[in-house]
Amino acid sequence: MALLITDECINCDVCEPECPNQAISMGPEIYRIDPARCTECVGHFDEPQCRQVCPVDCIPLDPAHAESRETLWMKYRRLQAEARLPVASALQSER
Ligand code: SF4
Ligand code: SF4
Repeated sequence: MALLITDECINCDVCEPECPNQAISMGPEIYRIDPARCTECVGHFDEPQCRQVCPVDCIPLDPAHAESRETLWMKYRRLQAEARLPVASALQSER
């Protein structure tokens, strides 16, 4: 399950740099989480890092994005592969 930032967010900026998947960004009014990039920190940490640091506890699970741990792991693997792609492309173009 991806996580969700509620409108109780006070825009303290603390969670965004903690996300290992770059899933958190500033929205029109408050921060938001991209469900395509949130793995609940599976693959990186035992606990969701954004929840650990949020001072107002406004990051619940998003019921609209229910996912098993296996699905979250697959998402982590996809994100890792995507992160490596630009490097692979650059190496190929050097040949
Ligand atoms: Fe990022 Fe982890 Fe929070 Fe998901 S749970 S938004 S991956 S810090
Ligand atoms: Fe909002 Fe919590 Fe993130 Fe601060 S840590 S920006 S209050 S979601």
